[in-house]
Amino acid sequence: MNDIKNIEESVRQILNTLDPNFGEMEKTPARVAKVCGELFSGYGQDPAKVVNAFYNSEMNELVILKNIDFESCCEHHMVPIVGVASVGYVPRGKIVGASKIVRIVDCFAHKLQLQERLTMEIAQCLETLLDSLGVAVLIVAEHFCISHCGVKKPHARLVTRYFTGILKDNYQLRMEFLQEVMEKRT
Ligand SMILES: [Zn+2]
Repeated sequence: MNDIKNIEESVRQILNTLDPNFGEMEKTPARVAKVCGELFSGYGQDPAKVVNAFYNSEMNELVILKNIDFESCCEHHMVPIVGVASVGYVPRGKIVGASKIVRIVDCFAHKLQLQERLTMEIAQCLETLLDSLGVAVLIVAEHFCISHCGVKKPHARLVTRYFTGILKDNYQLRMEFLQEVMEKRT
C-alpha cells in the first residue's frame, strides 16, 4: 500500500477525537496502518498474476475445495466479515493448484467488500482463468455490522452462492456441490 502514512495520520485524528490524551497509544496509528496493509493487500493485486499454476488434465468431474476460511472488511461499515468459502469447478482440460484457489479468495477478500460481490468475483475470475465447464462458489459469513453492532444478531449468517456454466444449468451437479460443501465441517 503506497499511502500508508496517510492511514497513520487518519488514525491519529480518530484517536485524538476519541481521547485527546491518547499518549499511551502513540504507536497505535503505525500499527493500524500496518494491519491495514495486510487486510487490504488485495488492492493493486492482479489475480491472473497471483495464479499461475495450471496443469493439463483429463479430469472432467467436479473438483471442490471447501472450508476456506477468510476474513474481509465490510465496505459499508468497515468492520470485519469472517467466513468460509467453498469453491468447485468442472475442468475442461485444465486444472489449477488448489492453493491458488485460496489465493484467489484472499485476493478478492482483502479489499473493502460486499459478500454478494465477493462471491461473484471469485467465480468469474476462476471461470476466466480456467476456461472450465462451470464454477460454483458458496460463502457463509458473519458480518460484525450485524452480529456486534446495529441489530446485534450474533448468530445471523449471510449465505451467498454463485454458479456459472454447467453448474448453473445442471441441477443435479449443483446439488452435488451443495451437498458436499454443506456437510458438517470436520
Ligand atoms: Zn456492514
